[in-house]
Amino acid sequence: MCHACRRTLLAGERYRTWRFGRRDRTVCAVCEPAVREAGAVRVVEGFEHVRVTGLIQHVKRVA
Ligand SMILES: [Zn+2]
Repeated sequence: MCHACRRTLLAGERYRTWRFGRRDRTVCAVCEPAVREAGAVRVVEGFEHVRVTGLIQHVKRVA
């Protein structure tokens, strides 16, 4: 979920992690200019993509 617009990110959508105060938040690409102006600091260089299986999936599947 994007912290700025409270929207659930769609599969394949780009997002990055930004730091608000002492917390790391997920922010979609659309909201990045707004959070930067609000004083957030970007903590990663590249974009990540929402996996089709969802953000919660951490188990690595071995075919
Ligand atoms: Zn957003």
